[in-house]
Amino acid sequence: MNYQDILNEIHEEIQPYLKLGKVASYIPELANVPYEKFGMSLHTVDGKTHSVGNAYENFSIQSISKLFTLTLAKQLVGEKLWARVGREPSGNPFNSLVQLEYENGIPRNPFINAGALVITDVLISNFDNPKDKILDFIRLLSGNKDINYDPDVALSENKTGYLNKALANFLKSFKNLDNEPEQVLDVYFNQCSLAMNCCDLANSCIFLANDGRSHHFDEVITTEKQTKYINSILLTCGTYDSVGDFAYRVGLPGKSGVGGGIVAVMPDKFSICVWSPGLNESGNSLAGTKALELFTTMTGISVF
Ligand code: GLU
Repeated sequence: MNYQDILNEIHEEIQPYLKLGKVASYIPELANVPYEKFGMSLHTVDGKTHSVGNAYENFSIQSISKLFTLTLAKQLVGEKLWARVGREPSGNPFNSLVQLEYENGIPRNPFINAGALVITDVLISNFDNPKDKILDFIRLLSGNKDINYDPDVALSENKTGYLNKALANFLKSFKNLDNEPEQVLDVYFNQCSLAMNCCDLANSCIFLANDGRSHHFDEVITTEKQTKYINSILLTCGTYDSVGDFAYRVGLPGKSGVGGGIVAVMPDKFSICVWSPGLNESGNSLAGTKALELFTTMTGISVF
C-alpha cells in the first residue's frame, strides 16, 4: 500500500470541502484560524510516518486532550472511574446542561464536557501539579519536548466559558467534583489549549494501535484490556453526537476537537490525524471527516 500517494490524492480531492465548514468562534481565539488549512499525518505501527499539507503546523487540540486525560485517569483509578462518569454515547450536544440534570450529575461519558471535567478533577486529586503531569505525559507520548499550553487560548476560553463554568458548578452541586470548580476549570481550559500538530498527535496515539505501547519509550502505557476499553469509548463517544455518522463513514475509533483536529486509530496498523478548522454542525471537522472517509475507502482499511 502506498500511503503517501493516497494522502497526496486526498489532499487534492479535499480542496473544495475546506470552505464548507465553519471555524469555531465561541472561543474567540479560535476564530482567527484560517479555514483553508489542511494537514494529515499517518503513523504506522512499524514506525513510518507519512504526512501531507499543513501536518507540521500547530493547532489547538481542544477536546482531543480528553483522550489523554482519560488514559491518565484510567491508569490512576481503574474501574472505579465508572462510578462517577458513564460510557454511553450522549446523543446530545457536548456541552449540554439538561442531560446532566436529569441524570443526577453523572455525565454520560468522559468525552462530553461534563465528563471531561470529572476526569480532570480525578487528576487534580491525584497529582500535586496536574498541569505539569498532563504536559509531561503528552510530551512523552509524542516524543516532542517542545509541546506546550497556549496561554492566549486558555485565557480566551476562561473569559467566555460561561457554559463550562455552569457545568462545573452543577457537577459540584451534585457532589461529583472533589475539588473547587475554579481549579478544575483552570486545568481543563489549559489542557484544551495544548498546541500540537498532526504529526505529534498521530505519534501520541500510536499506543492505541500498538497494544498500549508507544514508539518513544519501553514502558507499557495501557494494557491490552485497557487499550480495548479506550478504543471502544472512542468509537462510541469520541465524535460528538454524530458519532454514528462518523462510524458509518470512517469506520475507525476517533476523537475530534473544535480546533478542527481529529485523531483516529486502526488497531495493529496505524494512528492518523487530520486537521481542517472548518466544522460541521456537530463540531467535527467537516473536511477532516471527509478526508478520513476517503482514506478508509481508498485503502479498504477500517475496523469493519
Ligand atoms: N474547550 C472546548 C469546550 O469546552 C472543547 C470543546 C471541544 O473541542 O469539543 O468547549
